[in-house]
This record gives sequence, C-alpha cells and structure tokens, in this order.
Amino acid sequence: MIRVTSFKERSVAVFGLGASGLAAVRALEAGGAHVAAWDDSEPGRAAAADAGAPLVDLRAADWSGFAALVLTPGVPLTHPEPHWTVLKAQATGVEIIGDIELFFRERAATFPEAPVIAITGTNGKSTTTALVAHLLRELGNDVQMGGNIGQAVLTLEPPAETRIHVLELSSFQIDLAPGATPTVAVLLNITPDHIDRHGTIEHYAAVKRRLVERAQETAVIGIDDAWCAAVSDALLARGRPNVRRISVRAPLADGITARDGKLYENGALRASLEGIATLRGRHNWQNAAAALAAVEALPERFRTSGNLEAAFRSFPGLPHRLEVVRRIGSVDFINDSKATNADSSEKALASFASGIHWILGGKPKAGGITTLTPYFPRVEKAYLIGEAADQFAASLGGSVPYERCGTLDVAVRRAAADALAENGGEERIVLLSPACASYDQFPNFEVRGDAFKALVAALAAEKEGA
Ligand code: ADP
Repeated sequence: MIRVTSFKERSVAVFGLGASGLAAVRALEAGGAHVAAWDDSEPGRAAAADAGAPLVDLRAADWSGFAALVLTPGVPLTHPEPHWTVLKAQATGVEIIGDIELFFRERAATFPEAPVIAITGTNGKSTTTALVAHLLRELGNDVQMGGNIGQAVLTLEPPAETRIHVLELSSFQIDLAPGATPTVAVLLNITPDHIDRHGTIEHYAAVKRRLVERAQETAVIGIDDAWCAAVSDALLARGRPNVRRISVRAPLADGITARDGKLYENGALRASLEGIATLRGRHNWQNAAAALAAVEALPERFRTSGNLEAAFRSFPGLPHRLEVVRRIGSVDFINDSKATNADSSEKALASFASGIHWILGGKPKAGGITTLTPYFPRVEKAYLIGEAADQFAASLGGSVPYERCGTLDVAVRRAAADALAENGGEERIVLLSPACASYDQFPNFEVRGDAFKALVAALAAEKEGA
C-alpha cells in the first residue's frame, strides 16, 4: 500500500467507496489524514463500514473544513450533470481530485524521478498496459501495474528509484489528476466514446491530450486518427516532451510502424509479431508498437537484460480479448466476449482470413452489425444468441448462413459440430465475439466469457472421453 502523506493532519472527504475509494481511505489514513467517507448506496456504505471506513454523512457535513474531495472516477464531474458532491466542493472552494492524483503527489514528494508509464486511449488501454508491464518484467525489472486495470493504484507498492509503475488511465481518472506527470505517457487512439460523460468529443480529446502534454520525458502517440495526429503535431511544434509517433498505416522514417505483423523502428525491422496468438490483428499491432515505444523511452538501465523479441512471444494476453481457449482437432476456440459492440467485433473478424464460425448476439447496440458487412465473406456460418437474433438475422440476410441458437450452450454445440466436421484439415475457428452487451443473459462480459470457456472445456473432455 502507498501511504499518502500530502494530507497529513488535514480533513479529506472521500466519495465513492468501491475498491479504489476504499484504497484511498486506507492510504490517506495511513498517511495521517482525517477521512470522512461516504457513498450514495446504502449497501456500499455498509460494506465500507465493515471494512473499517470512517463514514460521515457528506450531505450534512461542514465542507469548509475539507482540504480536498477525493472522488471515484465513475462519478460525473460535468456531464450529464455534476454530482452533488462536486457542487458542494465547488461552492466551498474544495479541490476535487482522484486516487491517481494522490499517487502522483506522493511520488513528487518522495521519488519525483521514479519511472512511471501511463497509458490512455479509447481502445487497447488494458492490452497495452498489460503488455508493457510484461515486457518490463521479462527485461528483469521490478514492475507495479494498476490504475484502471487490476489493482487500484494506492494498493500498489510505493514509487522507488528502481521500481517502474505501469498505469492504465481512463479519461475520468485523467480528469481528476491535474498533477499526473508520468515519465512516459502513451495515447493510443481517440474515437467517439463516453461522449455522454464528456459532453463533446473535443472535451474528451482535450482530457486525453492533457496526459501526454505533461509527460516528463516522452509522449508516445498513435497518429492514425485525426484527433491524435493533431495532438502529436501540437506537441512536436512545442518541442516538448519528446514525441514518439506510432502508426499501423503509414511508414514512419522517425517513429514506430507496424506492418504485416512486423514492427519497424525508424524504418528498420525491430521485432516480428508473426505467430503470437495474443497479439493477433492490426489493432494489437498498434498496441505492440506503443508498448515497444514506451519501453524504449525509458532510460537504458531498465533495458540491459533479457530479449525484447522473446518477451513479446511470451505475452500471455488478457482474458476475453481474442483469448485462445483451446484447440480441438484443427479448430481453435476463441473467447472475445469483451467485444460488446460492432467496432470491437470488427477487430476480431479482421484478425482471421477465413473459416470463422461466429457466435454473436446478446443485447444489441445502436447500429447493430451493419458496419461488419465487408467481413461477412470470412464467416462460414453465424450462430445467433440473445435478444439481437432477429435484428442480426436480418443484417446477415442471404450473405451468411446462420442459425438461431437462443442460448450460448446451444450455439457452442452447433458451432463446434459444424467446425469439427470433416473438412480436409483446413483451419477453422469458433469465435465468440458477440458485438452486443451481455445483460440480457449474463451479468457482464466476464461471466459470458467464462461460460464459453466452461462449455469448451466440457466439450473437449467429451471428445477425449469418446
Ligand atoms: P480498453 O482497456 O481500452 O477497453 P482492451 O485492451 O481491453 O482496451 O481491448 C478492448 C477491445 O478493444 C478489444 O477486444 C478489441 O476489440 C479492441 N481494441 C484493442 N486494442 C485496440 C486498438 N489499438 N485499436 C482499436 N481497437 C482495439
């Protein structure tokens, strides 16, 4: 745990008592602050009280005594409207920050040069963060990973001269961290997302830009979309921080490019991603290019041992994102349950040239799967589940054979039977990439993906027993 000493002997309001809020309460108390903790949900408060959090009703509290409001990043700062704690803090001139800010203040007070790599972007944050952490560990470093992935930042080991923190940051977390000055900041891409919470794409992009602008040493920026390209140009014109550009489209004489599964650094071949199942697809090449740039932006002393190319090969990947569950015969079963919209499923379909037995459906999003038409020739057959079945059947129309399966267990059985049928040993895949939210049949995408994995395991056991 990190002791937060910057509010020693002062009072701090903490609102939102999930994992990161509770971690903030503990970290502040360990550093000598007086904490007033609160949450809108009664069960949330009860759980926090059980965990020892000092509850104070912030509706009735005297806000003039607080030095700060530490807000959980899920709570609206501006859109659709400011949360009541935000209004109270603003009315009394209390600064509003998040746990990431507390981390950076502690680092500034102890080891201001301690290496921190912070990663943001609309898509690929978790994969890139996990990959950077993996590469640095394989190169023999002491690495702490957290933020918007895995552990809350304040539960990690504290900053130290030779310890590297690798942090995934959402735009909500950046919004609450005005003092975030990572050694290296990575901005992968910007596409419209969470606009309901940021008002406009301009504001969303401005928040993301703030992180790379404040990098102490290097900003790694994916320049394949117009928003990020503009950020890169602005930083280059300013002359600081150093800008390392990455692209999966245009070759860069000065920067990192990914082409046909290979990474090129300033035009020279640097590493091949061919055959790495966890880094399949152009979207993952972008993540890998960013990870390479971030690792190489650290001082030499963090890169003296180990082999970077071997480290890429041993990346275990993240669950539910093109996760290879297992191979039965010549069929790979792939869990891409994290694909809750058509954009994500597009990345999956683009990653396989042919032979796809595609399980999809659930609670559909606006627009459905109409944008995926160009990939339909890669699909041998589709297996429809959940509420989206009628709508998706209409979109698939006459171009892709499909079957209405209702539930995931039926879909897995039917897809497996078709894919495993005698086909002369040609490679096929059974792909769960739903292009839908899971809520009609599962509590979340993780439970849906785990159910798929269990069904595949049962199927494999059956085949082995046969
Ligand atoms: P995030 O943490 O930003 O949500 P993840 O690494 O968890 O990103 O990936 C989530 C999904 O986003 C993946 O399943 C994939 O469909 C898509 N994706 C991953 N990386 C990229 C990328 N670089 N560009 C576009 N889409 C991506």
